[in-house]
Amino acid sequence: MTDCMEIVQRLDRMVDRELSPDEVAEVERHLESCPPCQRMFHFERHLRWLVRRACCECAPESLRERILQQRGA
Ligand SMILES: [Zn+2]
Repeated sequence: MTDCMEIVQRLDRMVDRELSPDEVAEVERHLESCPPCQRMFHFERHLRWLVRRACCECAPESLRERILQQRGA
C-alpha cells in the first residue's frame, strides 16, 4: 500500500493535473481506503479552486453564488 506521506505529496500535483493516469489511479485507490487523505485531497482541491476564483473577485455576489451552486460545492 502506498504510504500516506507519498500520497499527500502527490495530491498537490494531482490537483494541477500533472500526474500520469497510473499515478492518479494509485492515489485514487489510496484515497478510497484512507479517509484522512481523502479529506486532505478535498481540502487541496477546494483551496486551489478558491485561489483560481480570486481573480473573479469583481463578479457580482449573486453570480458567484450561482457558480457555487452549479458546482455542487
Ligand atoms: Zn493515507
